[in-house]
Amino acid sequence: MKTNAQAVVIGGGVIGCSILYHLTKSGWSDVVLLERDELTSGSTWHAAANIHGLHDSTNISRIQHYTMTLYKELEAETGQSCGVFQPGSLYLAQTEEREHQLRLQAAKAKLYGMNFYEISIEEAQRLNPLVNYDGIRCVMYEPDGGNVDPSGVTNAYAVGARQRGAEIHRFTPVTATDQQEDGTWIVRTPKGDIQTPWVVNAAGLWGREVAMLAGIELPLQPTEHQYFVTETMADVAAHDTRLPSVSDRDGEYYLRQEGQGLLVGAYEKDMKFWAEDGTPLDFAHDLFPDDLERIEENMMNAIERVPAVGDAGIKRVINGPMIWSPDANVLMGPVPEVDGYFCCNGIIPGFSQSGGMGLMAAQWIIEGETQYDMFAWDVARFDTWATKDFTKARVQDQYAHRFAIHFPNEERSAGRPARTRPIYDRQKDMGAVFGLNVGWEHPLWFAEAPGATDTNGFTRQNWWEPVGAECRMLRDRAGIIDISNFAKYVCKGPGAEGWLNAVFANSMPRSVGRSCLTPLISKRGGIAGDFTVIRVADDEFWIIGSGMAERYHKRFFKQVPLPDGTRFESRTEETCGFNVAGPKSREILQRLTNTSLSPEDFPFMRSQQIEIAGIAVLALRVSFTGDLGWEAHCAAKDQLRLYEALIETGKEFGAGPVGSRALMSLRIEKGYGSWGREYSPEYWPHEVGLDRLCKFDKSFLNKDAANSAMTSPAREQLVLLHLDEADTAASNADATGGEPIFMDGRGIGRVTSGAYGYSVGMSLALGYVSGAGAGDRVEVMVLGRPHRATILKEPPFDPTGTILRG
Ligand SMILES: Cc1cc2nc3c(=O)[nH]c(=O)nc-3n(C[C@H](O)[C@H](O)[C@H](O)COP(=O)(O)OP(=O)(O)OC[C@H]3O[C@@H](n4cnc5c(N)ncnc54)[C@H](O)[C@@H]3O)c2cc1C
Repeated sequence: MKTNAQAVVIGGGVIGCSILYHLTKSGWSDVVLLERDELTSGSTWHAAANIHGLHDSTNISRIQHYTMTLYKELEAETGQSCGVFQPGSLYLAQTEEREHQLRLQAAKAKLYGMNFYEISIEEAQRLNPLVNYDGIRCVMYEPDGGNVDPSGVTNAYAVGARQRGAEIHRFTPVTATDQQEDGTWIVRTPKGDIQTPWVVNAAGLWGREVAMLAGIELPLQPTEHQYFVTETMADVAAHDTRLPSVSDRDGEYYLRQEGQGLLVGAYEKDMKFWAEDGTPLDFAHDLFPDDLERIEENMMNAIERVPAVGDAGIKRVINGPMIWSPDANVLMGPVPEVDGYFCCNGIIPGFSQSGGMGLMAAQWIIEGETQYDMFAWDVARFDTWATKDFTKARVQDQYAHRFAIHFPNEERSAGRPARTRPIYDRQKDMGAVFGLNVGWEHPLWFAEAPGATDTNGFTRQNWWEPVGAECRMLRDRAGIIDISNFAKYVCKGPGAEGWLNAVFANSMPRSVGRSCLTPLISKRGGIAGDFTVIRVADDEFWIIGSGMAERYHKRFFKQVPLPDGTRFESRTEETCGFNVAGPKSREILQRLTNTSLSPEDFPFMRSQQIEIAGIAVLALRVSFTGDLGWEAHCAAKDQLRLYEALIETGKEFGAGPVGSRALMSLRIEKGYGSWGREYSPEYWPHEVGLDRLCKFDKSFLNKDAANSAMTSPAREQLVLLHLDEADTAASNADATGGEPIFMDGRGIGRVTSGAYGYSVGMSLALGYVSGAGAGDRVEVMVLGRPHRATILKEPPFDPTGTILRG
């Protein structure tokens, strides 16, 4: 066994082997995989191994499509059969919502060149006559859908990796991972140790235990999961081609041909956790006793749709373990706090995603960044707030609703509240309907009375009118928005200015009280973040950024060493904030402070440490609403007192609380981008309109990448669209994000955010397009159907910035 390697992958399931294969394919041949037993010894060997391309997230769909096409190439390359069957998949819509979801997916498939389209019921009947199509509203067909042989695929990756120089050691358990002073790792096994700069945890069911060897706690929880295979069925045997699989997701089961029978798997409501206190080390090629009673309801759904299942005998039941994260997506990426430690754990559709996951892992490790924005998979989206109890509650909910539609704006209640701020109860009394934001309860909108909840759907829901009232109140008078979910940092010391200049692309404010907006540039020259930096003293700065990206941004901040005597610390937990915005905001705040807020004394983008209602705040003259307004950041202990004062004084001016859904609509009226939607590492500064904030007369993190990106022509441009009112009124829906944009039948881009602009009376969307500009007429695929729209020349609210600066 080698004693040194470029990377050591722990775990020889389908994921570990795919990562190893993709590392070698990307040029790293000096890599090792260690497996404690035989390859496939965790969840892999007993998987049903269905493969699908459909996913609500566009980038995950891309990755799944890459994976589906890879298997045949892998077979050709390695000579190892992957047991690929691709008779196609039929997706059935029983409900209007499912129809919206599938039509939207078909529109995305057209844009991205994926094979997924509608077929008639007659055609579906011809392809799979066993299905009862009664009550089916539409059918989509994915010709590449099917299944693979789990051991075949895993071994093919292993063969491919070995052919390129990788070593694989079976029956070699990793017993310790010790980080050395120089940052490298010693990976210890009974057969010897290996030193490496990269440890890759692909230990599947044992992901938690392997992570703990490095002191890392991962929010993961295993469950049982069952499918059964029927005896030979005459109807199946009689069909001369293999039957397409059936995705009748409203029934929470999956169904496909296996041999001359059928395989039916279920995600039951009455789910069962396994190994809550840790996965046993002596578990390998093991299964649990059958428990078909638990999945009876799902089986009945399957029998109703495919009646022949009801007459078939059961040949084999598989009840095996799988391991979940709180949102059922993989926990992937370098652990921000631990150098050289890469996680890839908690994968549910391993066979739909293995190829793309391996490719993304290899890009991340070797090149430092993935080609796609993979925040939805990033381990950094969770932190210590995702406790064991939270994880269990979310996993239970995810499992029981595995195939449920995840609507735009949907907020699930499981495991909440996880953490609350001091004004939570007060907001609740005021009718706040909360969403989960980095673990925090955060008000989305305010109902007339406490206890209201969201309805869900792709169309306008119960919050649409109340959010409109909040937006109009703010634009006509004023609104008070809780912005405590922003990430806040302080940088203090003699080297603060120099360090911030070395991290961020813009030049830092030169005098106290001034502030600037600045991008953070990613490895490939894209937008890794957008921040406001405020100089509060000669040697002290406050930095405000995206709350959900706080842990993600750690990876960037740690790349620039802090000068001696200079500190950089998060203040997110101990600081809360409000944005008071709207034409009356100055009068409201002026009532509560002796500091002059006049335009001359407190101009736009300036800050001052002042008192509001006797409470010390850092006040900043900005507002994400695009309106006249101030942000006031205070100590968490003062949050309730400050809120009461703002609400009480606000009342006199007809102002009141405003939630984050209204904020989303208001910022779109102004054309402001938001991190994770418009701003992401996939987009270059000049594509998002942030190029003027990159200062090339100084050095900053990833400057060369920014320079090379910005000397290339923009691939796409961020634009604001106005959807025709007749079309959105007819469908009772606005764009929400992800909808493809077409012009003259040609796919030209996609929506990143959408909302109704209540104060301007327009249904609006922000999105990226290529080959189109202001005034062009396009079609936005809201609900998967064309909605006519015009690309706007300027934002409909305050295009000249007169109100903002007033
Ligand atoms: C019943 C069932 C049906 C499924 N059906 C499907 C399906 O239809 N489609 C689909 O895409 N997915 C399906 N899955 C999920 C799929 O099986 C998983 O997503 C996939 O197998 C996860 O692979 P992995 O490599 O992450 O983990 P695992 O398969 O668990 O592999 C981890 C490996 O790490 C090794 N290891 C652990 N600790 C150590 C250590 N200390 N040292 C060395 N090695 C170690 C283990 O021995 C194991 O071999 C199903 C799962 C189940 C249970």
